[in-house]
Amino acid sequence: MNGSVESPGRRPAACRGRFAPSPTGRLHFGSLVAAVGSYLDARASGGNWLLRIEDIDRQRTAPGAADAILRTLAGLAFEWDGEVLYQSRRLDAYRAALSQLRDNGDIYPCACSRREIAAHAPAVGVDGAPVYPGTCRSGLPHGRDARSWRMLAPADEVAFEDRVQGTQRQDVATAVGDFVLLRADGQFAYQLAVVVDDAAQGVNSIVRGADLLDSTPRQIWLAQRLRLTVPAYAHLPLASNAAGEKLSKQTRARAIDASIGSPLLAAALEFLGHAVPADVRQAPLPEFWCWAIANWSITRVPARRSATLGQRLPP
Ligand code: GLU
Repeated sequence: MNGSVESPGRRPAACRGRFAPSPTGRLHFGSLVAAVGSYLDARASGGNWLLRIEDIDRQRTAPGAADAILRTLAGLAFEWDGEVLYQSRRLDAYRAALSQLRDNGDIYPCACSRREIAAHAPAVGVDGAPVYPGTCRSGLPHGRDARSWRMLAPADEVAFEDRVQGTQRQDVATAVGDFVLLRADGQFAYQLAVVVDDAAQGVNSIVRGADLLDSTPRQIWLAQRLRLTVPAYAHLPLASNAAGEKLSKQTRARAIDASIGSPLLAAALEFLGHAVPADVRQAPLPEFWCWAIANWSITRVPARRSATLGQRLPP
């Protein structure tokens, strides 16, 4: 690929955006920021906004969380187009993509355990996990069985233009190495599912949190090998708490209360660099959304990977 910019780098005219939460718990302010940013960016272009529940990882899926997320979004008057897509119902599509990659010669079986990988890894990768040392790339070691299937990392650097963060480059081979698409527990990896589903839903503009910035080169590479159109990308700063930790279930971020309504959405929009007039902040939800859609500009979003939540959230 020779470091060429492979993603369009600007929002397509007929934009199809999406929000794709993992139902590991209820929505917190950090995920609300991604919902608001993706929604406004799609709606401001007159485009569609789709919802996908990324419940592919059975161990991480919390019972009732998907319904709670949908209720919260509906309670804040988000309007999504069409049916919600559930990854747990898409296994045939992931299987088909995996067999296409196998036929291409893009993936190979791997026998390595985590411990073996850690023992031979050349470095710690961008995900904080050991970079795969390539042990099984030219065949399974004698007498060993496949545990997982891995995608060959691209030979060249992947580069793309992020609409918020600017030009991004990654050498996937040294940043993560050949990466898993079918896990040792038999489940499909997020990297595969997200690419297959974005294409199936016709998503051409992805707006999401900057925690996924390091995954994007892998997803661009996968889309290319599957002959899918590469979407435009925009990665929003992540909200972090006063201790500098990303708001997440792990840092016990508080679930948001949809009954707060516009002041809560206004806080998310202000976090994304938009000053919200006092009357809009207190307005009924339809008026808030009308103002926000008319005034959204992605150029105001700070080009940072994370930002501390300066203001106090509405109680
Ligand atoms: N399901 C992922 C999450 O909740 C988001 C995936 C994406 O937006 O690509 O972090």
